[in-house]
Amino acid sequence: MKKIPAILAVLASIPFLTLGIIYLVASATGVRGGLTAVVMLAVGTALLIAGLRRLRRLAQISPSALKTGAVELARRLGGDLTVSQFRAEYRVSRELAEETLDDLASEGTCARERRDEHFIYVFAGLLPPLAEKVCPYCGTELPVRTALRKCPNCGAQLEVTKG
Ligand SMILES: [Zn+2]
Repeated sequence: MKKIPAILAVLASIPFLTLGIIYLVASATGVRGGLTAVVMLAVGTALLIAGLRRLRRLAQISPSALKTGAVELARRLGGDLTVSQFRAEYRVSRELAEETLDDLASEGTCARERRDEHFIYVFAGLLPPLAEKVCPYCGTELPVRTALRKCPNCGAQLEVTKG
C-alpha cells in the first residue's frame, strides 16, 4: 500500500501553503516576497492535490471496495464477469483484478469457470431466480421456460412460483 507517501504529501503541503499565505500577506503589505508566495502556494497546492487524489484512488481500489465493485458490475452484466471487464471498469492491474475475483470465488460469492480460452466468474446469486421446476404433487420435472398451468403427468393445477 502506497498510502504513506500520499499522507506525507498532504501533510507536507501544509507548511508550504502556510508560508505561501504569510509571504502573500507580507507582499501585500509592501514587503517583498510576492514571487516566494506564488512558488510556495503552487508547491503546496500541487502536493495537496496529488496527495488527496492518491488517497481517493487508494480508497477506490481497496480490497473491500473492489469486491463490492465487482459484485455490482457482475449484476449489471447479468451475473458473469471476466477479468478484462473488471479491469476495464476499475482500471486496476491484472494481478489485482484476478486476486479480487479469486478472493470472491474462494468466499463462495462467485464461481470460476473456464470458458473457451479464458476464465469467467459466475455470480449465481445475482441471476434471476429460476421458476420452480418440479411438480409439487408428483415430483415430475417441468420445463422451466414455459409457464405450465397443469402438470403434464398428474394434471394438478400448478402455481409457477419464483424460487
Ligand atoms: Zn404432477
